[in-house]
Amino acid sequence: MRAGDYGQCLAALVQGEPTATDIARVLSPKNEEEHGALVVLADRVRKNNVGDGVHLRALIEFSNHCRAACQYCGLRAENSDLARYRMPPDEIIEAATIAAELGYRTVVLQSGEDAWYTAETIAQIVSEIKSRLDVAVTLCVGERPERDYALWREAGADRYLLRIETSAPELYATLHPGMSFDNRVACLHTLRRLGYQLGSGVLIGLPGQSLETLARDLLFLRDLETDMVGMGPFIPHDATPLAGSETGRVELTIRMMAACRLLLPRAHIVATTALGTLAPLGREWGLQAGGNVAMPNVTPQRHRALYEIYPSKICINEEGSHCRGCIEARINSIGRHMATDYGHALSAEREPQPAGT
Ligand code: SAH
Repeated sequence: MRAGDYGQCLAALVQGEPTATDIARVLSPKNEEEHGALVVLADRVRKNNVGDGVHLRALIEFSNHCRAACQYCGLRAENSDLARYRMPPDEIIEAATIAAELGYRTVVLQSGEDAWYTAETIAQIVSEIKSRLDVAVTLCVGERPERDYALWREAGADRYLLRIETSAPELYATLHPGMSFDNRVACLHTLRRLGYQLGSGVLIGLPGQSLETLARDLLFLRDLETDMVGMGPFIPHDATPLAGSETGRVELTIRMMAACRLLLPRAHIVATTALGTLAPLGREWGLQAGGNVAMPNVTPQRHRALYEIYPSKICINEEGSHCRGCIEARINSIGRHMATDYGHALSAEREPQPAGT
């Protein structure tokens, strides 16, 4: 059976039509050599398709209010232990200005599902940022009606991040009480249709997830042709129903990133902060296994600790300028450089390049 041979499974991922079994096999190497072969191949495909530049996306976590009940997330509405904050529009624009002054070419505005920010409020913030600053704007504020997404696109938003979290509908239903898998998928299609550069991704190591589920997650992302992918390890939070669950594995996260690079050669793949939280060099490893994006935090320091989606998040005591120097040093330490362009989606621009030299 083809799935028995690691090299053949890797080739199936690179060449086209891998089965979920092929991918699951790639995600479970039998030894260091197999793991190494995956990582080296992903690094080469990354270099040939998106180059050595690492794109930095300045993350502004502007509100930790959330109406949702995601079982894994510390911001979930039922967590009454968490002090909640909301940055007013002026403060968000100020944080974006600082990000631009630090040299970032993209700002990501992220929050819980917070209806306090009406469609018009967010449109106003986006349009102020786009008119005053030379940056791309990415939004990550959850599920909204098409009208809102359309308004923000008209206001100048370039990109949208909405993780599917898991592509297994039953698991999705268990983890997201009161939410609908079909609606999340519909949101992704709407965003794409409206012309956003689209980002999605999953959590790795959720209770109830199997290698087969993760393999299908990667096929889901490939079929969606996402321009950006953010996949991080699940880190259990004490104030959630998943307290006490096992933490997602660093090595498996690295392999998911690498396999994703083989399936989506031109995508922008993030080495997540969650990966850096579980291992001091986690983000560097991710960047050496197919990743080409990092998301340094520029949230004003006084709010940072409160955006506690998971515990022990790194960089909560730093100011944006410190993170800027830190991330650049990390990128340089692995022989890469900071990209200086906007880092727009590449997927549609040209045909994928093979893994050769
Ligand atoms: N409300 C927005 C932003 C959510 S927070 C939205 O729905 O898109 C951003 C991401 O944090 C989520 O998509 C989720 O994948 C991740 N996250 C939440 N809880 C986590 C945890 N316990 N461990 C790791 N990542 C987590």
